[in-house]
Amino acid sequence: MTATDHCLFLSVPCQPSWFWITPYYAVMLLAINMALARLVYITERQTKVKLSGAMAPKCKTGCGKNAILKRPKTGDALCRECFFWAFETEVHNTVTAARLFRRGQYVAVAASGGKDSTVLAHVMKELNQRYDYGLRLVLLSIDEGITGYRDDSLETVKRNRDQYGIPLTVLSYEDLYGWTMDDIVKQVGLRNNCTFCGVFRRQALDRGAAQLGVDQIVTGHNADDIAETVVMNVLRGDIARLQRCTAISTGTEGSIPRSKPFKYTYEKEIVMYAYFKKLDYFSTECIYSPNAYRGYARAYLKDLEAIRATSIIDIIHSGESLAVRDAARLPTQGTCSRCQYISSQPVCKACVLLQGLNQGRPRLGIGKSSKVQERARETEGESDDRSEVDSATVTVGAG
Ligand code: SF4
Ligand code: ZN
Repeated sequence: MTATDHCLFLSVPCQPSWFWITPYYAVMLLAINMALARLVYITERQTKVKLSGAMAPKCKTGCGKNAILKRPKTGDALCRECFFWAFETEVHNTVTAARLFRRGQYVAVAASGGKDSTVLAHVMKELNQRYDYGLRLVLLSIDEGITGYRDDSLETVKRNRDQYGIPLTVLSYEDLYGWTMDDIVKQVGLRNNCTFCGVFRRQALDRGAAQLGVDQIVTGHNADDIAETVVMNVLRGDIARLQRCTAISTGTEGSIPRSKPFKYTYEKEIVMYAYFKKLDYFSTECIYSPNAYRGYARAYLKDLEAIRATSIIDIIHSGESLAVRDAARLPTQGTCSRCQYISSQPVCKACVLLQGLNQGRPRLGIGKSSKVQERARETEGESDDRSEVDSATVTVGAG
C-alpha cells in the first residue's frame, strides 16, 4: 500500500505505517459497522411502527381512529374529529342550558383577532348553522389605537370577516374619546394604562352594540379568565364584582346583555382547537401589557392546576355558589349624568377618566369610587380642550 491508497472501510488515505495492524483494525471496524447497521434497522422499524400508528392509542370514543391528543379537561385520548365534536358540543350545551339566545336575535361577536374571539366567531357560525339557532351575526371590534399591536390584529379580524362571511364593524377610541391608547400611555405611563383601556373598551363595545342595534354581545372570556377573576375579586374583597363575575350573562335593565359561551371552556382547548382547525388568529401580546395583578392570579392558578387538574372548573363552581350577605351593600345601576351610559355612580368611570385626560390630571379617575366622584365634581368645568364623549362608527362590510 502506498501513501495514496485508501483504507477499505473508512475511505481515507491509509498511511504505510498502518499496514501491519490492518487485520486487527478491519475486525474492529466490521464490528462497529454491524452495530451501526443494527441501530439503523431498529430505528427504521420504530419509525415505521410509529407512522403506521400500530402503537398509538385509539380514540376514546370508539370511532376506530387513532388518538392524536389528550384533552386537558378530561384526560381523554381523542382523534382530531372527535375532539372538534366534543369541544363544539360542550359549547352548544352551555348555550342551550343557559338559554343564551332566542331565535331571530342579532348578536355581535366581540372580535379582537386573538385566539379566543377567533375561535368564538368560528364556533358561533358553526353552531348557528348546525343547530339552526336562527341568529344574525356581526363582528364588533374596538381599535384602541395601539400601534404595532391593534393595527396588526385588526388585519386578522378583517381576514376572519372574509373567511367566515360575517360583517365587521370597527369603533376607535380616537373617534369615541379623542384619545388613542398611544396618546394615553404618553400621558399616564405604563402603570394605570390598562384601567383606561379596560373602562373605555367596555363602554366602546356598548356604544358599538347600540349603534348596530344588536340584541346582545358575546365575548371570548374562557374558563381560565373567569377563574382568575374570581381569585382576583376574592383577594381584593370586591363583593360586587365577585357576585357577578361568574354569571354567564350580564346586563341589567337598559344595557345590552353580554354573554360568555366559553364560560366552561379551557384556554388550552381553545388553543388546541385553533391549532388543529388551522384558524387564522393573532397571538402577539399587547405592547402595553403590564397587568401584573392578573398575571400573578394566572400564575397561581397554573400552580394549582399542576396539582389538581380540575382547579379551574372548581373555582368557577365555588364562585357560582358564593352567597352575598343581605347586609352587604351592593351598588345600584343607573345612568351617567354626562354620557347617559350605564353607571353605578352619578358620573361613569369613562367620563371621569376622560375628564382627567383632558385636564392633564390623569390620576383623577384612579382610586376609590367615592373619592374619584368627589374630585370629578370639584374639578368639573376646568379647562377641557378635547370634546366630550363623541361617537363615530366605521362599518366594513363582509368581503
Ligand atoms: Fe389595553 Fe392593557 Fe389590554 Fe393592552 S394589555 S389592550 S393596554 S387593557
Ligand atoms: Zn359617562
